[in-house]
Amino acid sequence: MTNAPEATSAPASESKPESTPVSITSPITQDVVTIARKLPEGGKINLVGLTRDQLRETLVTAGTPEKQAKMRVGQIWQWIYHWGVRDFALMTNLAKDYRAFLDERFEITLPEIVTRQISEDGTRKYLLRIAGGHEVEAVYIPEESRGTLCISSQVGCTLTCSFCHTGTQKLVRNLTPAEIVGQVMLARDDLGEWPEQGAPKNETRLVSNVVLMGMGEPLYNFENVRDAMQVVMDNEGLTLSRRRITLSTSGVVPEIARTAAEIGCLLAISFHATTDEVRDKLVPINKRWNIETLLEALREYPRVSNSERITFEYVMLKGVNDSDADARRLVKLIQGIPAKINLIPFNEWPGAPYQRSDWERIEAFADIIYKAGYASPIRTPRGEDIMAACGQLKSATERARKSKAAIAAEAGL
Ligand code: SAH
Ligand code: SF4
Repeated sequence: MTNAPEATSAPASESKPESTPVSITSPITQDVVTIARKLPEGGKINLVGLTRDQLRETLVTAGTPEKQAKMRVGQIWQWIYHWGVRDFALMTNLAKDYRAFLDERFEITLPEIVTRQISEDGTRKYLLRIAGGHEVEAVYIPEESRGTLCISSQVGCTLTCSFCHTGTQKLVRNLTPAEIVGQVMLARDDLGEWPEQGAPKNETRLVSNVVLMGMGEPLYNFENVRDAMQVVMDNEGLTLSRRRITLSTSGVVPEIARTAAEIGCLLAISFHATTDEVRDKLVPINKRWNIETLLEALREYPRVSNSERITFEYVMLKGVNDSDADARRLVKLIQGIPAKINLIPFNEWPGAPYQRSDWERIEAFADIIYKAGYASPIRTPRGEDIMAACGQLKSATERARKSKAAIAAEAGL
């Protein structure tokens, strides 16, 4: 897997949610908005990110005759997601007046690329601007046998994991399905991956995998993420199979079963600790759904098998969660769950209250897990020179303005 995103900073603020004690009466939920798909009066409706059913409904509401609707959906779908066409005028199998009809009412728009950086190792980091002037990042990580695109699901994150820079960002809003699917389309644009008419089919895909490991908690934006993945997984167009999509969650237990039922993608869990005491500090949502509750939900995750294992992400923090005893506890906890454990060396960001574990420590930890029969790859940080690694996103563009002490205090350290 990849070394994916995170991070953004916010101006120091007294009103940060993490300073509020978490309890049953103050659940860790979010108060965020999704900008409506419809633009104000007179604006055009963006067709990107609509599921087939929604696209059909949108076309019919606008006046497309019912009996043509299915065919029109098929045609438009193919232009947008197979050919990457953004201009209705180029949709040559549609009658000219129908193209004009579409153009008057609809648009095919993606987030705007503000900057693109390419690392020495080929990793590409995109800073994207979305409606409202917000910014999110997406990262493309080429590997020998695949290319993984790490995408964001929210601007910021309402959860406040103490090692994660995104958790320090104050402003949060859900991304729309258009903005989520748009990240995949933009990467294809940038990599020149749309097919050319008449050219032989390209068998190797540049964007072969998608991981929801960028900014945000995907399970706190469930419907939009689900709809976006439906578009991405559709068997025409972007056609990524559900097994090439991995959704990472910090452990929003009630949505885990829904993820299996309504998306069906692979699951990664930001586990990071082996006792509730430590996990409460690192991943505060643990106070709401603790380790035992989380593991129960994972044991019931349908389809989990040796070929579709759950990935346990474990960030290696010096002196915090990296002892031999932790490794042994981890193995014991996940017993019976087909799993692989992804060890992530902590990526530091300005003001971070932790340090990365020493390399020997990480290897010793990995060894214990490996000997217990689990794959335990150590995730090589990718794109470090452009701050594209996990937990580093936007730290370079929006420097941490909080003091180290303030962050440590909030983390309860
Ligand atoms: N919110 C979701 C998905 C995004 S996080 C989640 O937490 O799972 C993607 C992964 O990067 C998570 O496992 C997260 O814990 C990890 N991460 C965050 N900050 C990091 C950092 N500074 N160094 C290493 N990994 C980090
Ligand atoms: Fe960061 Fe994920 Fe925690 Fe949110 S849930 S603060 S994105 S690690």
